[in-house]
Amino acid sequence: MHEEVRVVAGECTATFDGSEEREHRGEVLTVVKPDGTVLVHDAGGYQPVAWLTRAESVQFVDGVLDARDGDQRLRVEVHDEHGTARHPVTPAGVPVGTCPDCEGAFVLASGAVRCLDCGASYSVPRDAAVLSETCDECGLPQLRVERGRTFEVCLDRECESLDERVTAAFDRAWDCPECGGDLRILRRGGLIAGCERYPDCDTGFALPTGVVDGSCGCGLPAFETPSGRRCLDGSCASA
Ligand SMILES: [Zn+2]
Ligand SMILES: [Zn+2]
Ligand SMILES: [Zn+2]
Ligand SMILES: [Zn+2]
Repeated sequence: MHEEVRVVAGECTATFDGSEEREHRGEVLTVVKPDGTVLVHDAGGYQPVAWLTRAESVQFVDGVLDARDGDQRLRVEVHDEHGTARHPVTPAGVPVGTCPDCEGAFVLASGAVRCLDCGASYSVPRDAAVLSETCDECGLPQLRVERGRTFEVCLDRECESLDERVTAAFDRAWDCPECGGDLRILRRGGLIAGCERYPDCDTGFALPTGVVDGSCGCGLPAFETPSGRRCLDGSCASA
């Protein structure tokens, strides 16, 4: 399930062929990441002495590591190998609590909370905060999300649905500015307030991140958002 990083330690010659050719020799540590990135580290500093980012192909045959990407090539010849190994590696995320199933560490990375032990994964809205409070039902962390109001819901939407909570709060709460019909809370990728008369009326607005604070001059609700006050209709200038 986990991807692997490969490391090779030894006395090596690293030859980089790109716009110019550069050669280094020494006791170095070569790291090959699952995405094909190859880094050759020597004794000092954080910067590799040679590298190739996300190479198209990486081969390690007969003591020679050969990475290629377009016209660029990085070749690491191992003269005297001290050790080679493969280790599991994951994206490193922000720690956000503990998995209730296996006690593994939860991290938040690229829009999902993942357990580093069992691999359980839960997608998280981009603007949500993961809280230290946990769900009474299942023990997962809770999320705080602003959709017209501040909602605190379970990380697992099967356990507790943000959509249901927002619908209970705002379904049919506002009128369509085009035809006077009710705006329904619907999921179209993100949550929107869309006219009940669709497809005869195709008025719809994405629910902004923020809480409702009174009304806009146009009659729709106004939202207090991280970037200031705005109308539910992002193109309205009267908020
Ligand atoms: Zn787990
Ligand atoms: Zn739950
Ligand atoms: Zn309408
Ligand atoms: Zn408005």
